[in-house]
Amino acid sequence: MNETLLQYFQWYTRADGFTYTRLKKAAPHLETLGVTMVWMPPAAKGREGKKDVGYGLYDPYDLGEFNQKGSVRTKYGNVRQYQAAIKALSDRHIQVIADIILNHRMGGDELESVRVTPMSESDRNHPVAAPFTTDLYSRYTYPGRKGMYSDFIWNSSCFKASDRFLDHERWILLFDGHHWSEHVSKESGNFDYIMGMDIDHSVPWVKDELYRWGVWYTNRFGINGFRFDAVKSIDSTFFDGWLSHVRQNTQAGAFAVGEYWSGNLGELEGFIRDTKHCMKLFDVPLHYHLFDCSRSGGNYDVRTLFHGTLSEKHPDYAVAFVDNHDTQPGQALESWIMDWFKTAAYALILLYRCQVPCVFLGDLEGVRKTKSPKVALLEQMMWIRSHLLDGPIVDLFDEDAQKACWIARSSHPVLVLFTIGDGKQKTVLFPEYAGLTFEDISRKDHTVQIDQNGHAVFDCTPGCCSIYILQSDIAWMKKDLKLK
Ligand code: CA
Repeated sequence: MNETLLQYFQWYTRADGFTYTRLKKAAPHLETLGVTMVWMPPAAKGREGKKDVGYGLYDPYDLGEFNQKGSVRTKYGNVRQYQAAIKALSDRHIQVIADIILNHRMGGDELESVRVTPMSESDRNHPVAAPFTTDLYSRYTYPGRKGMYSDFIWNSSCFKASDRFLDHERWILLFDGHHWSEHVSKESGNFDYIMGMDIDHSVPWVKDELYRWGVWYTNRFGINGFRFDAVKSIDSTFFDGWLSHVRQNTQAGAFAVGEYWSGNLGELEGFIRDTKHCMKLFDVPLHYHLFDCSRSGGNYDVRTLFHGTLSEKHPDYAVAFVDNHDTQPGQALESWIMDWFKTAAYALILLYRCQVPCVFLGDLEGVRKTKSPKVALLEQMMWIRSHLLDGPIVDLFDEDAQKACWIARSSHPVLVLFTIGDGKQKTVLFPEYAGLTFEDISRKDHTVQIDQNGHAVFDCTPGCCSIYILQSDIAWMKKDLKLK
């Protein structure tokens, strides 16, 4: 079976509290599309309450159940709606992937007096002033939850840093008695710190609490796998132990993927080694190749799109994606792939050799806020991946650097041909398909018949992606997807 992961939220998802309800309703359709795993939104209460996207994590035990930070529900719904969505997915044999935030906490309840050394934002190993003592919201007592599920109280002993904004700069405040982990990204000298109260994973009671919470969360909600946030800022040696412990004490499966935001393959390889191959990583190098190609004005060698990517070098450890909530216009890692190229980009991750492609909700539904349209043919490509794509992929690239072509050879063949320049043709020889008729799903009634000797000429129009499947399979697909 071909795996397909769906990221079921985007940055501008409506904060109406009905995301889980929509997901529950969508579950049967997602099964038809061939979705095997859903990456659910970060589900715990964040500092901004019902407006928080979820990454400003305040209380990991509050999944929309307690009146904290101004509301019971989160941006996506309440705990009962969350459970109902999970049940609807499980009933359809779709795995539930939870978004796990282990780097920080935000929105502390009480002030503590903390001795800190201010470090430079651009070089975290370099102090910018003498140590001083200051009051920080580093104590988390969760008065709204009143000890339900856990009586653990976070305090300054659990954290290693916070930050402070001055007129023209930002100081990173390193707590006395703590130090940066060596096992993090070396960006800005040491990229242990991102935001909020940075968790110190070397503290024994912190480790115990995070292990305990992981088992509680996974068991209570029937979580099947994990997506880890911001792993380049967390001690990489922490993950293998956490995952082993949680997997041993729950029914969680083998799937885990980390967000290590770097286009440098060597860095990603280092992380995979340091974590003892316990998780896959999102293929950020591939994302940047797709981004560059989409903005190249046709001056890109599409035959090299996978060169130097995780999908090429370590396919078992790659989760390929086109865009996500962080790459959307207006977000921190904005690198949105241009609309004209999106169908080709999805053909590359869904219909070529990638083992676990991740489809973004913003591409599946479109994003009103940024006027980004639905990606053309995305549902059809997902359906083709799950229903037809079977058998070996055969490359049909030639000397034309603007043209990509390949076929999945089976009794339900799939031929993809796209161009980043003028219209293109591809002459092929497939004796096994002699006499059969292919149809391009991107153009109504555009067919190519294979002659008695197995010869045919496929074509695509300028800047477009054509996907040819057998005419008999077109009828099956249209019936399944209720297309005209
Ligand atoms: Ca950190």
